[in-house]
Amino acid sequence: MRNIKRTELKTLKDFYALMGATRQVRFNAVQAILDGGDVSGDVILSLKNALASLEDVPELDGKRVLSLGGERIIELDMDYEINETQKDLFYLEEGEETFLEFLSDLHEDFDEHVRAGHDLLSGVDLNCLISDRDGTINNYCARYLTSVQSIYNAVFFSRFAMNKAQRAVILTSAPLDGLIGISVNPEGKIYYAASKGRECLDLEGRIRRLPIPSEKQTAIEMLNARLQTLLSRSEYEKYTLIGSGLQFKFGQSTVARQDIGNSIPDEESSAFLETIEALVAEVDPDKKNFRIEDTGLDVEIILTVETSDDGLKDFDKGDGVEYLNAEMEFEMFRGPHLICGDTGSDVPMLETALEMSTESLAIYVTKKEELAVRVRGLSPSAVIVPEPDMLVTILGTI
Ligand SMILES: [Mg+2]
Repeated sequence: MRNIKRTELKTLKDFYALMGATRQVRFNAVQAILDGGDVSGDVILSLKNALASLEDVPELDGKRVLSLGGERIIELDMDYEINETQKDLFYLEEGEETFLEFLSDLHEDFDEHVRAGHDLLSGVDLNCLISDRDGTINNYCARYLTSVQSIYNAVFFSRFAMNKAQRAVILTSAPLDGLIGISVNPEGKIYYAASKGRECLDLEGRIRRLPIPSEKQTAIEMLNARLQTLLSRSEYEKYTLIGSGLQFKFGQSTVARQDIGNSIPDEESSAFLETIEALVAEVDPDKKNFRIEDTGLDVEIILTVETSDDGLKDFDKGDGVEYLNAEMEFEMFRGPHLICGDTGSDVPMLETALEMSTESLAIYVTKKEELAVRVRGLSPSAVIVPEPDMLVTILGTI
C-alpha cells in the first residue's frame, strides 16, 4: 500500500488523484477489519494526511477553490470527502461502539430507526439483497468519481451481505466504468450492476451485458458524438465538471445540468436542458430510440426497449432486476429478498421483486412523504429511514 502524504492540492486533477489514493488505503483497511485483524497505523496516518490536504484547500463563500489548469478555476463542494474521512478516522480510532454513539448523536431519532430496521430483518435469511448506491447506502457526494466509499460503510454493508444474503447486488444507474474505483467492499463478494442493471460485474470478475440491438447501438453512438461536440464548446464545458458530468453508460447517457451545491444559475441550467432536448429531437425525430428523464440535476437520455405489447418504454431498474435474475440465475422466485433505494427510479426494483416473490422486503431512504407512501403501498411492512447511515447501521449491526 502506498501511504498518503500531506500535499497541497492545487488542481482538480490533484484532488481526484488524492481521492483515488484513499480508495486503496480504505480497501485494504476494510479487508483487514472483515478478516478480524488490526488496521495498521499507516492507514490512520494516511487518512489524517488526506483529511489535512482536503481541509487545506482554500475556501471562497463556502466553496473550495481549485485550478482547472491555466487561469481557470472551479468552485467545489467537498463536504462528502471531508466528512466521510473524518468519520472513518473516528471509527478506526475510537472503535465501532463509540462510533455508533457518534452516529446516534449526529442523526435525530437514529436508534428508533435502526430498531425498526432490525425488527423487519430479525431472523431473516435473504436470497437476494438488491440495493441502489448513492443516497441509499452511500451518502450523497457532489461528484460521482470522488464519492469513494468510506471504511465504516463498506464494513457494515459487506458484513451483512456476506452473512445474511445468498447474493448481494449493488444496482446503480451510473456506469460500471468507475464504480469499482470508488467502491471498497471486498472483491468477489458483491455483484456490481450498473447502467440500471444493463451491465454487471459478477463474482468471478467478468462483465456481463444485456445485448443492445445494433441499430440502437448506432443511434446512441451518434448521440454521444453530438453530446461530446456540444460539451467541448467553452460555454458548456463546465457541465462536464459538475455533479455527474458527462457519462456515456451502456444504453444511456447522462449530462449534468446542475449539482447539489447549485453551482449553475437556474436560468442558465434550464436553457441548457432545452439545448439538450433540441439535440435529442434532432437525432431522434420520431422518438423511437430515446426517452429523456430530467432529475433537476442530471439529464438522462435513455435507450428505449420494446415492451411485450409492441410498445416502447425506457429501460428501468425493474428491467435490470429481471435481466440480472435470468443472467446470473438468482432464482428470485425464491425469497425473501430485501430491496433498498432512495428515489422513484428505485421503485421498479421493488415491483419486479414482488412479482417474483411476495416475500420481498423493503427499506427505503427518503424524507419525501410521496415516495414513502408509494413504497408502503407496494410493501406495507416497508421501513422508511431518512439517512443512508441508518440503513447501513441496520445492516451492519443486526
Ligand atoms: Mg440513489
